Amino acid sequence: MNQPPVSLRSPSPEGVRPAWGGPTPNMLTLALSKGRIFDDTLPLLKAAGIEVRDANSRALILPTNRPDVRVVLVRASDVPTYVQHGGADLGVAGLDVLLEHEAQQGGAPMLRPIDLKIATCRLSVAVRKGFDYPAAVRQGARIRVATKYTGLARQHFAAKGVHVDLIKLYGSMELAPLTGLADAIVDLVSTGSTLKANELVEVETLLPISSHLVLNPVSAKLKREALQPLLQTLREAVPAAS
Ligand code: ATP
Ligand code: MG
Repeated sequence: MNQPPVSLRSPSPEGVRPAWGGPTPNMLTLALSKGRIFDDTLPLLKAAGIEVRDANSRALILPTNRPDVRVVLVRASDVPTYVQHGGADLGVAGLDVLLEHEAQQGGAPMLRPIDLKIATCRLSVAVRKGFDYPAAVRQGARIRVATKYTGLARQHFAAKGVHVDLIKLYGSMELAPLTGLADAIVDLVSTGSTLKANELVEVETLLPISSHLVLNPVSAKLKREALQPLLQTLREAVPAAS
């Protein structure tokens, strides 16, 4: 009478793969963020023979023309987390996001074998026009800085011997000096037109920024054979430095 319980764990390879399309053992999962990183990475992938499908759908997991490669779409600042913890084998993230992640988490730096030279900009300090920045950053002085990059800003001002009161913001950093919330901001600058439109001036550059390929350290070892040719073609697809 009693039926034996139906096993949910079929030993067959088909059964091991979850219905929602989880990874097969040799699948490579690439984490990208929508926007400029996605747009600028597509041509590099194409040069490496990988074409992303359904890019305009609302799906968060996108297949490619290669059955062993898929793309997951995550928030730009979540790419290091996905890659570090194995939610993705590899990913593309701005150096700003990578170094801020490392500054927050501590621990070993992430593996970043390729500078893709896309989404280039710089991480800079900006202040209101007329603000005496050299006086504000004299040794032992105190400055109020608003930024999304609190880890990198802390390191920067500590290295100068300046006391810094950090104010964490998530957007529209330009408003902080204009409203008296902060003396300075640390933010990304590309053309400088946003600063100019808000009567701010760039006074110091912390870092030149571009997006890098990052690798999960376990995948780098266990999936080495699948990763090596992909990394090599991506390396060749990166335009030579001009
Ligand atoms: P979200 O918009 O979801 O808050 P985000 O602002 O970090 O996230 P993007 O604006 O797509 O996402 O930026 C992603 C990366 O692109 C940044 O981490 C940076 O490396 C680079 N980037 C950001 N702004 C510029 C810019 N104006 N010019 C060139 N590259 C940029
Ligand atoms: Mg943005």
